[in-house]
Amino acid sequence: MSSSQHLRNVAIIAHVDHGKTTLVDQLLYQSGRYREEQLDKLAGGQHGLVFDSNDLERERGITIFSKNCAIEYESLAGERLRINLIDTPGHADFGGEVERVLKMADGALLLVDAHEGPMPQTRFVLQKALAAGLKPIVVVNKIDRIDARPDEVVNEVFDLLVDLGADDDTLDFSVVFASGKAGFAIDHPGDEPDGMRPLLEKIVEFVPPPTGDPDGPTQMLVTTIDFSDYVGRIAIGRVSSGTLRDRQRIAVIDRDGKQTLQQIAQLFTFVGLDRQQAAEVPCGDLCAVVGLDPVGIGNTLASADDPRALPTITVDEPTLSMT
Ligand code: GDP
Repeated sequence: MSSSQHLRNVAIIAHVDHGKTTLVDQLLYQSGRYREEQLDKLAGGQHGLVFDSNDLERERGITIFSKNCAIEYESLAGERLRINLIDTPGHADFGGEVERVLKMADGALLLVDAHEGPMPQTRFVLQKALAAGLKPIVVVNKIDRIDARPDEVVNEVFDLLVDLGADDDTLDFSVVFASGKAGFAIDHPGDEPDGMRPLLEKIVEFVPPPTGDPDGPTQMLVTTIDFSDYVGRIAIGRVSSGTLRDRQRIAVIDRDGKQTLQQIAQLFTFVGLDRQQAAEVPCGDLCAVVGLDPVGIGNTLASADDPRALPTITVDEPTLSMT
């Protein structure tokens, strides 16, 4: 089995304030817990795993949802997975950022507040996700709210999808009810809460693993550029073909098709909220590449001996008004 079988790339899309940050925080926190449970089992299981509220508060204080993060998760079926969580801006942007970010994902979590229901940004990002070919898993969030109306909200999401022209397969979406704040997800309202597992299991089951030829020519579309005073420009994106290697000499192809031959100085994947240096990144995974300049958004990093540009994402230029 290729390593991409154990990968999932999920975009998280939501109207502002519907609880994206809080939910991702919990996923990061609890996947740490699951990992420790595994270690505990290996160690003979003497230590029951109990996190008191002080631990929880400490964790909450330090975690922030940066643009990408990744969690390690061992599924109930015993499969060890890496799940990349991709933050998606909810607002109308300039220059196609939402489209580019969604390109890194194979599935999406659509978070909707259990009281408010779908809001304008829900519609906006959902429309973009559908256009990107993603089939969302619906997360009715803040289910702990006293004024939650989960069943109605599910119907409203259904109606919104119909309105956006979703196909029958997409309309047959799966639903999880969650409280990021209380740290649980359940399959049905009223179920006994027991952590985030039901949501993680849905991701494993319904988000397809990435496809692509690990032995093909290397290709990575640069989705985002980060900048560091120490290392300069950092190109972030998804390897869509082949394997990217540390110190590899690659062709950087700009949006006009102009190529420069450059060498990767350092390669990173995402681990939790951090980045961890990697010797290679296989197709399907997300990575950050240091040492390239010039490099820009929409560039392709490609095999030096078989450089093939990926299509850059062209979007209608938005009108330059703030309305
Ligand atoms: P984001 O803008 O989507 O990232 O939303 P945040 O995670 O920052 O949450 C927005 C607000 O909703 C904050 O005041 C949170 O405390 C609150 N909130 C987040 N998750 C929940 C939840 O599961 N239940 C309730 N009742 N409130 C929540």
